[in-house]
Amino acid sequence: MHNKKTSIIEQFDSSNTIKSGQKAVVKYKIPNTDTSITLLGDEKDIANLKSLIDRSAKSELAREGMEIAGKGGYTLEYAHVEGAAGECTKDGKFITLSPHITENSSMYMFAHEIRHAGQFERGADEDFGIETVKSEIIKFRASEADAQTAAVGVCYELALKGDKFPILCMKRDDVKVVEAFEKAAAEKGGVESGKAQTEAFKGWYDNDKVKQVYEMIYEVEDMHKALREGTSGDRPYDKVLTGEQVVAKLCFDSKKGNYFTDNPKILESDKYVDIGKTTLTFFKNYFKEREDRTGKAPDKSIDELPVRGHYGNNKLAKTTAKRQEEAKKRVKDKQNSIVMMAKQRTR
Ligand SMILES: [Zn+2]
Repeated sequence: MHNKKTSIIEQFDSSNTIKSGQKAVVKYKIPNTDTSITLLGDEKDIANLKSLIDRSAKSELAREGMEIAGKGGYTLEYAHVEGAAGECTKDGKFITLSPHITENSSMYMFAHEIRHAGQFERGADEDFGIETVKSEIIKFRASEADAQTAAVGVCYELALKGDKFPILCMKRDDVKVVEAFEKAAAEKGGVESGKAQTEAFKGWYDNDKVKQVYEMIYEVEDMHKALREGTSGDRPYDKVLTGEQVVAKLCFDSKKGNYFTDNPKILESDKYVDIGKTTLTFFKNYFKEREDRTGKAPDKSIDELPVRGHYGNNKLAKTTAKRQEEAKKRVKDKQNSIVMMAKQRTR
């Protein structure tokens, strides 16, 4: 995924000075730990990354996450990520942050991407086209919900230490997750019990737009690729994952083992697995075409996915022209958000 021009990168010790404009690889010790993490960039990038690490390290959760990423061999860098604030790639082990975003806004995204690195290190990665479509949806959504849960946990700890901007920025961008966390955290023992994290995790599924975008990039795009490359028949779609297995793998908590306090079975129905109308149509067409080409029966798990209300419920009468104009805009918005979210994919 990353096409690094390694020839222009020179190895430096942290004691060496970096010449202006030149890229360097630097090992940086995470404060209050014995672990270093690798930074890549020019003088300014390295200074900004150090600042981000130092500021994050005031949160115990963030320190833990950075240690796992550091030990796992992840490299942090700033690079333009088209329309997105950051990404974590398993191949090559890079955590990339957009240089266009202020440090305050980067803080929660950094914690989110660090968590993805931890997920990869704990082996919670994916087998596309091996699991049933429903199982894939359960797993991918849970990995995003868990990354946002980790991010709000870090921001909350920082806020308790007086650094309030990260949680305010996160709330601006993902109000459902942050409000769900804060509400449960206000109860006695809300954070210690895991309830605040569980509510934040569940809050992720209240954002239909985000779910729609992930359906397109995680599922539909992958199916397009399989048809294009003629590999759809190689995919058995027969491994079933339960909510319990997914929660056991993803909702890691170093103190409790696992933070999820609800019945993990909820991840197998309702809003947790609902899909858009267009997504369902695509799934059906894909499996029909796959059957025509290979004789293999469709994945029946798609019949278990509820379809969510599709775009708006404006009851006012509209002229045909107005409808067409709006439909065009929706397609454009969707394309824009796909481009934006595609960069946040984590595989
Ligand atoms: Zn993510």
